[in-house]
Amino acid sequence: MQINVSQLLQEPVGSTREYDIDAEAEIIGDGNEYNIKGSCRLLRTQRSVLVKCALDAEVELTCNRCLGRFRHPLKIKFEEEYLPTVDIHSGATLPPPEDAASFIIDEGHNIDLTEAIRQYALMAVPMKALCDKDCAGLCQKCGYNLNQGKCDCPAEDTDPRWAKLTELR
Ligand SMILES: [Zn+2]
Ligand SMILES: [Zn+2]
Repeated sequence: MQINVSQLLQEPVGSTREYDIDAEAEIIGDGNEYNIKGSCRLLRTQRSVLVKCALDAEVELTCNRCLGRFRHPLKIKFEEEYLPTVDIHSGATLPPPEDAASFIIDEGHNIDLTEAIRQYALMAVPMKALCDKDCAGLCQKCGYNLNQGKCDCPAEDTDPRWAKLTELR
């Protein structure tokens, strides 16, 4: 997902560009490529290009309870500054950004959105993904997926102290 900004860099501060994104990329480190759709707005600032993106993807996650795979929509939103490495007018190499984690515009005046999209996509993935908030999970004994019905395991051994109470009820 590369965007060439050589034109934009030659325009006055405040100039903007809109880009529609529709691309496939590996974004959550699971080896699968997912479709990413949305738009990005680029703004020429005094020292950089400010990129603001709002993207949607649908990824496949593993349920934390039943281990089933399910589709999950991801909203990827970010605003990041991309710093030039080469002066657009003179072609001279610029000093590297102070923060090594900064996003850069390469020598060919290209912005690569892939890394930012990946970082923000990962942040958008829920820590404990559930296929459904009421997912029944797996049987602790036989491992059967209880979303598909009951397993053949005998009913939970009830603590005898509670058994009396159950009878009373
Ligand atoms: Zn589940
Ligand atoms: Zn079971």
